[in-house]
Amino acid sequence: DLTDISTLLLSRIRDVADYPEPGVMFKDITPLLADPAAFSALTDAFAGICARTGATKVVGLEARGFILGAPVAVRAGLGFVPVRKAGKLPGATLSQAYDLEYGSAEIEIHAEDLTADDRVMVVDDVLATGGTAEASLRLIRRAGAEVAGVSVLMELGFLGGRDRLAPALDGAPLEAL
Ligand code: AMP
Repeated sequence: DLTDISTLLLSRIRDVADYPEPGVMFKDITPLLADPAAFSALTDAFAGICARTGATKVVGLEARGFILGAPVAVRAGLGFVPVRKAGKLPGATLSQAYDLEYGSAEIEIHAEDLTADDRVMVVDDVLATGGTAEASLRLIRRAGAEVAGVSVLMELGFLGGRDRLAPALDGAPLEAL
C-alpha cells in the first residue's frame, strides 16, 4: 500500500537545517539506505514504476541517483546508465549545461549506452528546481532514446520543479514517492 510505504520512507529521511548553506533544508537519505526494509521497499516501488512505464534502461543522476538507481535496474532487469558531472566519463560523451541559482552546471552521458530502442527512466533522490532532471532528459533525447519518466523519492513542491520539467517530460510521468 502506497500510503504505508510513503510513511515508512518519510520516517527514514533526516531533515538537516542550513546544510550545505544557510536557508537550505537538506534531505538526508542515509538513514533510509541503512534500513534494509526501507531501502528494499523503495527499490521495489521504483522497479514497479519502471515495469508500468515499459522502461528499458535506468539513468541515475550523480551521486545519490547512482545509489538508488543501480539496485532498481537490477531488480527490474534493466541496464543502468550513469549521468555524471562534467569531466568524469572517459568515453565519447554528450554534454548538457544548465542554469543554477548562481552560475551553471554541466552533466554528461556516454552516448553509446543508449539506443533508439531504449525507453529511459531517470532516478534521483530529490527533485528541487528540476534543473538537473531537465538537463538529463535533454541528454536522453539527444542520445536518440525515448523518455519513460522521472522517478524521485521526494519532490520539493515549493521550488516548482514539476512545472519546469513538464515540457521536457512531454507527457511522460513524474513520480514522487
Ligand atoms: P535540482 O536540479 O535543483 O532539482 O536539484 C536536484 C539535485 O540536487 C538532486 O540531485 C538532489 O540530490 C540535490 N538536492 C537539491 N536540493 C536538495 C535538498 N534540499 N536536499 C537534498 N538534496 C538536494
